[in-house]
Amino acid sequence: MSAKPISAPGDSRRRREQYHEADVVVVGAGVFGCAIAFALANQGRSVLLLERRMTEPDRIVGELLQPGGLAALKQLGLGHCVEGIDAIPCKGYNVIFNHISSLIPYPTIDDSGNVIYAWGGSGKEGKRPEGRSFHHGKFITKLRESCLAHENITVVETKVIKTLRGEYTDQVLGVETRTTNRETGEKKPDYFFGQLTIIADGYDSKFRKDAIGDKKAVVKSKFYALELIDTTLPQENYGHVIIGKDTFPTLLYQIGTHETRALFDVPMNIPEASPAAGGVRGYIKNVAIPALPPSVQPAALRALEAGNIPRSMPNSWLPPTKQMPKGVLLLGDAFNMRHPLTGGGMTVAFNDALLLSQLLDPSRVPTFEDSKAISAAVNVFYWRRKNVSSNINVLAQALYTLFAANDRQLYALQLGCFEYFQRGMTDGPCGLLAGIIQRPAVLAYHFFSVAFLSLWLNALAICAGPFGILKAPLALIDAVLILWKASCVFLPLVWREGFQ
Ligand SMILES: Cc1cc2nc3c(=O)[nH]c(=O)nc-3n(C[C@H](O)[C@H](O)[C@H](O)COP(=O)(O)OP(=O)(O)OC[C@H]3O[C@@H](n4cnc5c(N)ncnc54)[C@H](O)[C@@H]3O)c2cc1C
Repeated sequence: MSAKPISAPGDSRRRREQYHEADVVVVGAGVFGCAIAFALANQGRSVLLLERRMTEPDRIVGELLQPGGLAALKQLGLGHCVEGIDAIPCKGYNVIFNHISSLIPYPTIDDSGNVIYAWGGSGKEGKRPEGRSFHHGKFITKLRESCLAHENITVVETKVIKTLRGEYTDQVLGVETRTTNRETGEKKPDYFFGQLTIIADGYDSKFRKDAIGDKKAVVKSKFYALELIDTTLPQENYGHVIIGKDTFPTLLYQIGTHETRALFDVPMNIPEASPAAGGVRGYIKNVAIPALPPSVQPAALRALEAGNIPRSMPNSWLPPTKQMPKGVLLLGDAFNMRHPLTGGGMTVAFNDALLLSQLLDPSRVPTFEDSKAISAAVNVFYWRRKNVSSNINVLAQALYTLFAANDRQLYALQLGCFEYFQRGMTDGPCGLLAGIIQRPAVLAYHFFSVAFLSLWLNALAICAGPFGILKAPLALIDAVLILWKASCVFLPLVWREGFQ
């Protein structure tokens, strides 16, 4: 149920529609924009939501929502958006390493939603949370419909081209846009004003530089996508991650009754995808598809043969940057991104929207004209969001480094990680990935447990060959190198995501 509007809905609607004025202008009706617009509108704020293209998006992103994201979506009052879109329940992951499977279901939780075996092991029976996977476009359409139906939101199809600042201050007062006349194609300038402008224009943000300076996302690989029709995954209702010595990570998850998404990670400039090797198509056909489960390979080949080069998206890491909001805030992917290997982006976005709206609740910040109160709320938001976002981001980056291993120590860590899962140490790692364990110490504990298991397995392998225990000094040197590598992967990420 909506809270009581601060001003009568009729008045604020007229202000939005006639004068293009609202309490808050939100740029981008994507994952984050819809969520924050809806949350603020539910608190009685008047919201203008501006989106450049209102047709159903056809994208290869945001198709698997983790349980921690689904819980936040429900708390935002948007849980119904995963209904009626042919969404598929997701119960966890099946990690396939060199053709051997390790099933990692989402962990068992107690009545308060806490993971019972966060520090070690796995629950055999009990309540387990679920995620959902779906066609991104269908989900976004549902989010947008919820915003369109909200009495405190006016959605406008218009492309934002710049922020507007006061003549004598650098406070942002709103945005300038271009609205296209559907019949004539003519573009006309428009202006929209809000006490606060929230920009959520996605990974390729045009406003990032303005808001947080010259921060560039780190892109080491791209995901290339195929849509497989009527294929059978080895484990129904599980996301699949395929890793191996000769291939980079591939993700498989069902997004509809008949459709399964395949995402192939292809690092920049690898010889396996060079023009001589047949380019990206060559890599997918000759290297990645043969590593897939046999039941999936025919549909993957059919999908590859049916199209040209598969569609792609860059896999970016953009750590968050502290903002001094002068009437404007940059959020969503525009502000913070992580490798999509663990499907964490929407979980971060929905948790961010929930937290920020709680901190901006009218009982704390009666009006968005109060820039001091907004700055204080944003400061608390920046540090408090880290419980969810840092965990998800560090895990995604660290796991990707291990799963796309390209040196001896990383291979040892990759093997150790898989063995860790095989030994049943799954509830903690999967709870972190699901976004339902929000304690950074649990992440550090599991990461270094994997590192110690890796150096132990490596030592056993070294000493198992000719000259046996005489090679112990070699094993010891290797152990130091593996531990050093693990620290080099993990600690800079923790420092950047958690403490800055
Ligand atoms: C390959 C890949 C796969 C992914 N898979 C998953 C997954 O399975 N699960 C998951 O949780 N996350 C996934 N993610 C991440 C997830 O998609 C993002 O974190 C999420 O979409 C970010 O939401 P957002 O609102 O910031 O941006 P978006 O959802 O991209 O929304 C931005 C919106 O702004 C609009 N816009 C842009 N410019 C303007 C403008 N000038 N004026 C008006 N409107 C504008 C756009 O049209 C769009 O609607 C994936 C990412 C990648 C790259």
